[in-house]
Amino acid sequence: MFGQQLPTRWSVAIWLGMTFNLSVLTRDFAICAVDRRLTTPKGKIVTERSNKLTLLEFADGHGFVTYTGIGSDFRKRTPSDWIAEIPDLGRLSIDDAAAALKADAEPRLAAIARQGINVRHSFVMGGFKRGNPFALLISNYDSIDGPERADADPVLSVSGREMSWRSGAQHPFLVLAIGATPRHPAKIQRRLVPAIKKGATAKVLRKLVVKTVKDVAYQDDRKASVGSSVQSVVIDRSGNQEILGHVPGGTTLLEGPNIVGGAMKIADVYVDVSGEPGWRYDRVLGKAKIKETRCKECGTPVPEGYRRCGVCDAPAP
Ligand SMILES: [Zn+2]
Repeated sequence: MFGQQLPTRWSVAIWLGMTFNLSVLTRDFAICAVDRRLTTPKGKIVTERSNKLTLLEFADGHGFVTYTGIGSDFRKRTPSDWIAEIPDLGRLSIDDAAAALKADAEPRLAAIARQGINVRHSFVMGGFKRGNPFALLISNYDSIDGPERADADPVLSVSGREMSWRSGAQHPFLVLAIGATPRHPAKIQRRLVPAIKKGATAKVLRKLVVKTVKDVAYQDDRKASVGSSVQSVVIDRSGNQEILGHVPGGTTLLEGPNIVGGAMKIADVYVDVSGEPGWRYDRVLGKAKIKETRCKECGTPVPEGYRRCGVCDAPAP
């Protein structure tokens, strides 16, 4: 079904979501922060609006899923779109949902790999399973316990951890970082681990996690695959969620993650606080159309509502 009717210039349509996302889980909350940039294999910025985060309600818990690697397929569908299309995902258990994600993504990645593209790809799923914090890595080159491989396997492997309540530590935690390699991983550890061990609140930890993702964007002067516009979520053990967007310079149009649970699916969520909300529904797209205009100084796409360019800080065009 997939990849049968490729346009002749398919290769330019593959976008990389080589991104940086950081997840921190404690006994009481799960935090995930991820950037929103999509780049071509040559590094050109395609959009600063890519949603890489989905919130999930499972039969036996709740959490989030995010990813790094392939950011878009031949049909310009992102892995977040793939996830939203999996039937009944919100009715499955966490383990069955991970298996469904793997079964759905493998043929899609294989079709992309057949065009000679490196399809190293990982999903991270995290949250609470029957009240216990868990993290799953679904990857064709990486595992929670083993070293990364240079080449992608034809299959995605699932590896995971569940936090034990019997752990002797006063503040047990799981930290998972995937995507771009931070230049100073030790610095990240020094920033996060003591705070976690001191029992920092979700609010304090979220700030540190978002700062860390932004630092990885800034380490390449914001020009590489990691954008400075970041989305974060805090989920607590009972399932309460708090979603925030972090845009340098601010924005009047915030876009949210997708939400899947039970029979419910919510995609392409946005909040317009400009004071002049307009009708955005586009019949061809089948969803709200949110524009991006190229920055006059550096050509980076600047999403509607943003006050500044995310690369050079020039005022929005
Ligand atoms: Zn610019």
